[in-house]
Amino acid sequence: MTDSDSTPRSTGALSLRDWLDRLAARGELAVAQDGLALKHQIAAVAKKLDGRQATFFPRPDGAHAIPVISGLVSDRGWMAEALGVPQDRLLSHFQHAAANPIPFNEVEQAPAQEVVHTDVDLLAQLPIPTHNEHDSGAYITAGLLISRSPETGIQNVAIHRCQISGRNRIGVLLLPRHTDHYHRMAERQGKALEMAIAIGVDPATLLSSQAIVPVDHDELEIAGALHGRPLDVVKCTTNDVRVPADAEIVIEGRLLPDEREEEGPFGEFPQYYGERARRHVIEVDAITHRRGAMFHTIVGGGLEHLLLGAIPREATILSELQRSFPGVRDVHLALGGVGRYHLYVQLDKRQDGEGKNVILGAFAAHYDIKHVVVCDLDVDIHDPREVEWAVSTRFQADRDLVVIGNAQGSKLDPSTVEGVGAKMGLDATIPLSAPEMKYKRIRIPGEDGLDLAALLAEGAEWRRHVAG
Ligand code: MN
Repeated sequence: MTDSDSTPRSTGALSLRDWLDRLAARGELAVAQDGLALKHQIAAVAKKLDGRQATFFPRPDGAHAIPVISGLVSDRGWMAEALGVPQDRLLSHFQHAAANPIPFNEVEQAPAQEVVHTDVDLLAQLPIPTHNEHDSGAYITAGLLISRSPETGIQNVAIHRCQISGRNRIGVLLLPRHTDHYHRMAERQGKALEMAIAIGVDPATLLSSQAIVPVDHDELEIAGALHGRPLDVVKCTTNDVRVPADAEIVIEGRLLPDEREEEGPFGEFPQYYGERARRHVIEVDAITHRRGAMFHTIVGGGLEHLLLGAIPREATILSELQRSFPGVRDVHLALGGVGRYHLYVQLDKRQDGEGKNVILGAFAAHYDIKHVVVCDLDVDIHDPREVEWAVSTRFQADRDLVVIGNAQGSKLDPSTVEGVGAKMGLDATIPLSAPEMKYKRIRIPGEDGLDLAALLAEGAEWRRHVAG
């Protein structure tokens, strides 16, 4: 951020346990009865309470000492609060952290390693749920997969869906991004890639894992910046990967070279299944965890899943657009567009035609963006009804529509052909030459800041005001 007025002030990001206390204190954490089933039942309850209450499940299956937690940051306001910033500073706070990372601090002793299992049996030692009807089985969905570049030793953090394929085997989907890049480097040398999966981290660290930054930028340093101090990390017991010292659970292992096994189907963020195919394989060497650990699961397509992806993307897209278009004030990846596909842009338009340039810039900012709506400053782009109103009253399809065919999109959008599809942009801004009254939004004087309590009577006794 160049604008020093908007340099965010944080009151400090919360630890996972402090955040749960905060939610519990005001009735936003639902604690289930003991023993709910790991297969479907936990996900069903978490999904039912999605966005209203986080959930805590003691003694899953009646057998596991480790509780399951879900829905921890399934609200934009919660996310801001957990990071210690007002909601309208959430994006600028994240932009600032991504641009000013803080190196981590290595410690010798860590809560994450209080208990160590070297004889690994994933499903016996951890309460790993199965979510959807056609999921191939139990999945780790909220694990930060941390790997190290075989060349530079710089770490990468990302969340990948992890299918439990055996006692110490995990099938993992690696999209062609950074973990995959490091794995290819190792594979070319015929070596496995050392890695770890951290489960149950604080909200700031969780959010930082979704930052859209270049390869060889350790997302744990963004977590440090979100906290305003270096993140404590500890070296794994069986390899050189550094993991958050306060993580509830850590799975240490290796991404194997030249091995692929069947993975999927699995219920993904667009509310459809990601297909079954031959995918990468992790062999697990150790599990470490806190005494009294908790297992975090993210239900696919729920608000927690959508918001974790959307907020860091919004911050990145906003920075990219503002580089070319200083009039861009805010962006929003709408939940109806699964937090990925529909981008709403708020523009202080200075030039006619600028809306279309912003649309083209947005398509270039991230290939997942499919539909863009550009609105004026008076439109609240966080309210889908306001955006629809702008489209219905300021947009003409023969004049304001941009369509680009056969472009790269999201492979998880089933209406594309292998991820290739159309882009559409709607410029819903008012022409600069329009006479003022033509687009003057109606307003009742005194409507804003009305003190209804002072103006209304008690009860609804209308009859005493009329005769007869
Ligand atoms: Mn990365």
